[in-house]
Amino acid sequence: MTDRITQPAGPESEGADVAVVGGGVSGVAAAWSLERLGRRPRLIERSGALGGRSGSLRLGSRDVTLGGKNIGRRYVLFREFAASLGFDSYEHFGINSSRIDDGRLRVIDGSRKVGAARELLRGARLRDAARFARLARTVVRESDNRFLGSDAFAELGRRSDDRPLSAHFGARFCAGSLRPMTVRMNGAEPDEVYLGTFGTNLGMLLDGYEQLDASMSELFGAYERRVGASVDTAVEGLVVRGGRVRGLELRRPDGSVETSEHDDVVLALPAGAAAELIAPHLPPLADELRRVRYFPAAVVLAEYAEPVFGEEVRALIFPPGEPVTNAGAYGMSARHIVRYTFSGRAARELVGAGADLAQLLAIGEERLGRHFPVDPAARRGFVGRGWDAAYCGYLPRHADFMGRVNGLLGRLEGLHLTGDYVRGVSIEACFRAGRECAERVAAGARVAPLPRAAV
Ligand SMILES: Cc1cc2nc3c(=O)[nH]c(=O)nc-3n(C[C@H](O)[C@H](O)[C@H](O)COP(=O)(O)OP(=O)(O)OC[C@H]3O[C@@H](n4cnc5c(N)ncnc54)[C@H](O)[C@@H]3O)c2cc1C
Repeated sequence: MTDRITQPAGPESEGADVAVVGGGVSGVAAAWSLERLGRRPRLIERSGALGGRSGSLRLGSRDVTLGGKNIGRRYVLFREFAASLGFDSYEHFGINSSRIDDGRLRVIDGSRKVGAARELLRGARLRDAARFARLARTVVRESDNRFLGSDAFAELGRRSDDRPLSAHFGARFCAGSLRPMTVRMNGAEPDEVYLGTFGTNLGMLLDGYEQLDASMSELFGAYERRVGASVDTAVEGLVVRGGRVRGLELRRPDGSVETSEHDDVVLALPAGAAAELIAPHLPPLADELRRVRYFPAAVVLAEYAEPVFGEEVRALIFPPGEPVTNAGAYGMSARHIVRYTFSGRAARELVGAGADLAQLLAIGEERLGRHFPVDPAARRGFVGRGWDAAYCGYLPRHADFMGRVNGLLGRLEGLHLTGDYVRGVSIEACFRAGRECAERVAAGARVAPLPRAAV
């Protein structure tokens, strides 16, 4: 390209033998894990700050996180990471929600497990309840089943993923019980996800949630400074010589292009974004990665003069057919800030990167206002964001897919992959995938270990 001024790597890359591309949770997890293994990673992020889909915007006097912020009690690696930066104080959040059933508002209290389970299984056919309970037991019994790639769910996927999740349960159970999970965690309807990946949904459902007292942006900001991340720097290509990835082509904010040299490159990106960088060098791997499904969504956060929710009920899940999936208090101590999420089939026309946030907010306020005291006139401000690829919905027979990806990765030395499609979308799953990827880099290995059943 003629407009490019190519210059050697800047000071951030000095001594950095491994580059991590993407400063979302997956990239942060990979970089942090690499550091712990004695490597000095260069973390490269296109936008102006780390965080990716867990990033924040300013609303009034505080930073609010638009995407991932609820931290499960079982998020061991994330909590270790946060504590290593001095962030170890959490506010209870819980899943204390409500839904509309036959026109009635029903409360789901996550702190009362039996009541919540009863609410979840209300009206379910015996067969559906028994199958769901069996799957939940599988996840409770073996914690690895909360993540993609476990033996049990790999095997289940192989047997069952010729049909989507909705084909394995009755319509009422899908709409009332499964859909709130899949729409919230994958942005997908039950007919768009599969049993072989459902352990990740159950793992998230069966956890209890808190959020950091500090904001996610403070946490990511602290890590950005500690690791010396290269923000505002877009990776435009891989440098490949002699069948090996040798470095990266980077575009700086001033438009200049830098090439950096690395022994290893980790792509910590959504599968489609990784595919674009890989396509010129290894098209079959790019084709595989493009098969992973992502679904769009938008989130709008609005601040009001008075609390909209009480302490008892802090969220409302909307039924299928509504573009707003759920509306909830931002936190226990921020019940005057409502987070409206728009995802699932009924929202698709309205969401994505170009979403009209004011229009979405008007829809959200109207729907929520039918059940809770939300007054647009008392609104102080709002922020929001839409994503074309907000949530990963995975793909059928995920374990076989990972087997093919790992086989193809072996053809391009020095390249490593991590991301939300490897172990799951939860922040903890991204940390687990990041750690495993870092271990492979450190061990000089190129491919992920396959689940035993896939070998
Ligand atoms: C609305 C929403 C709510 C959620 N809530 C929760 C929750 O409460 N708890 C939970 O556990 N999980 C939650 N999740 C899931 C979790 O937040 C995501 O799965 C996770 O943040 C994904 O992180 P990532 O690093 O894999 O991807 P991303 O966050 O997408 O990060 C990729 C990064 O790469 C950068 N990038 C892309 N291309 C380039 C390039 N060429 N060069 C340089 N940089 C590039 C991007 O700018 C981005 O920062 C939620 C997700 C969403 C969308």
